[in-house]
Amino acid sequence: MILVVGAGIAGLASALALAPFGDVVVAERRSAAAANAGAGIQLTPNAVKALAAIGAREAVAARATMPAGLRVRSAGRPRPLVDLDYKSVMERRFGAPYLTAGRVALAEGLREAVAAQPAISVRYDFAVDHLVRAGTGWRAGGDERPADFVVVADGVGSALRRQLFGDTARETPHIAWRGTAELGGSDRTELTLSAGAHLVRYAMAGGQDSGSDSGRDNVVLIDSRRRHPDALAQTPLGPSLADVANWVPWPIKVRPRARFHHASVALVGDAAHAMPPFLAQGGAMALEDAAVLGAAVAAHGLTDAAAAAFGEARAGRIRRLAAQTDRQGTIYHLGVPLSLARDAVMKRLGPDGVLARVAWIYGWEPPAG
Ligand SMILES: Cc1cc2nc3c(=O)[nH]c(=O)nc-3n(C[C@H](O)[C@H](O)[C@H](O)COP(=O)(O)OP(=O)(O)OC[C@H]3O[C@@H](n4cnc5c(N)ncnc54)[C@H](O)[C@@H]3O)c2cc1C
Repeated sequence: MILVVGAGIAGLASALALAPFGDVVVAERRSAAAANAGAGIQLTPNAVKALAAIGAREAVAARATMPAGLRVRSAGRPRPLVDLDYKSVMERRFGAPYLTAGRVALAEGLREAVAAQPAISVRYDFAVDHLVRAGTGWRAGGDERPADFVVVADGVGSALRRQLFGDTARETPHIAWRGTAELGGSDRTELTLSAGAHLVRYAMAGGQDSGSDSGRDNVVLIDSRRRHPDALAQTPLGPSLADVANWVPWPIKVRPRARFHHASVALVGDAAHAMPPFLAQGGAMALEDAAVLGAAVAAHGLTDAAAAAFGEARAGRIRRLAAQTDRQGTIYHLGVPLSLARDAVMKRLGPDGVLARVAWIYGWEPPAG
C-alpha cells in the first residue's frame, strides 16, 4: 500500500502517478468541501505536460482558460514593455499550451482523474502528523495498515518533514495578496512591475463547483515591503488595483533547502522545495515531481532506491529554478533608476528574448514510458 499525505496539487498528482503500482491511500487533514475559492493558478507548458503524463490533462484543461499571451508592463508607463503571443507559440515551441484556472477548478479536475482510478482512495479529515517505522514500511498511527511507500505532500508547513529532518519553513520578506475583479477585457495575462511589488492578473475559468470564481479575473499582488493593497493606491501601481475586491493575504513561506527522500519516503511539492511564486512554478514543480516519482517507482518498485532515484532526478532542476526565481524577484521589484535599465533591457529582448529565458523551464519533458 502507498500512503500519500496531503491532497493538494502534489498529493493528488502523486496518487495518480503511483496508482499503477498498488493501492494508494491519500490522507488529507481538511474536509472534502474545503476549497481555495478566489485564487487562481497559471499552468505553464511544463505543468500541462506533467498533467498529461499522470492522465489528468483533459480533466483540468476542460476547466481552464487559454490566455492569448502575456503582457508585461512597468507601472506608470502607458505602453507595455513586452507583448508575448502565447497561443501560437507555446504548443509549437514547447509541445503544450499555457493555461490559467481557478484553484477550485484545478482541484476538481485532479479529483475527477483520481475518481476514475479504483486503486486510489482519499480519506478527508484525516491528518497524519507522524510516521512510525513498521518493518520496512511505515504506519501512520492507530492500527492502520502499514504502507510500503510514503509520499509526503503536506505543503510548506510539512509536519512529516519536520519529523524526518527536523527543519521548518522559513518566512520571507514578501506578502502575497489575492483578490478578484470583473473580467478586465484583456485576453492576456497581465504582469505589472513596480518598485517593491508586482501584480499578476488573469481570467479564471470556472469548474462545476467554483461558483463565484467562474468568469472572473484573479489578481495576485506580491509585495516585498508587506504593504496592504490600499497603501499602494497612490503609487504607480494604484490604477491597476482600483477595480480589485476581496483582498485576502496569502503568506509566502519557503523551503530554501530542498529535501526529497528518506528511506522509502519521497517528499514532493511545497513540502520538498517551496519557493516564492516569482516564476509561477510551485504547482508546476509539484506536478513534475509526481510524473518523475511515477517513473522512479516504475523502475525501482516501492523501495528506498525509488525514492533516492526520484531525488536525484529532481535536485538539479529545483536548485536551478530556485536560483532563477530569486533573481526574477529582484528584477521584478527594482525601483528607479535600476527599473529604467530593466525596462530598457526587456524592450530590447522582446518576446523571443523573454521567452528564451524560460525555455529551459517550459521545455521540460516527462520521463519516457
Ligand atoms: C501567491 C502565490 C501564487 C502562486 N501562483 C502559482 C502559479 O501561478 N503557478 C504555479 O504553478 N504555482 C503557483 N504557486 C505555487 C503553488 O501554489 C504551490 O507550489 C502548490 O500549491 C503546492 O502544492 P502542494 O500540494 O505541494 O501543497 P499544498 O497546496 O499546501 O497542499 C498540501 C495539502 O496537505 C494537507 N495537509 C497538511 N498537513 C497535513 C497532515 N498533517 N495530514 C494530512 N494532510 C495534510 C493540506 O491540507 C493541503 O491540502 C503560487 C503560490 C503563491 C503563494
